[in-house]
Amino acid sequence: MIIPVRCFTCGKVISEHWGDYVSRSNTKEGDEDPSDVLDSLGINRYCCRRMFVSHIDLIDVVSPYQ
Ligand SMILES: [Zn+2]
Repeated sequence: MIIPVRCFTCGKVISEHWGDYVSRSNTKEGDEDPSDVLDSLGINRYCCRRMFVSHIDLIDVVSPYQ
């Protein structure tokens, strides 16, 4: 739904990087490889990287019904 503020496993604050990830990643709006984007954002641990790779942003779909 919304990207969680912290990584579920290690507690690193990750939500501050979601906007950059969306605008730069080629699976979203940008044209860079998602792996390179996460490397440059300093998201190195695989527990944190899965938070970005596996997230589906549904807030704009669901918000009219709340
Ligand atoms: Zn983590």
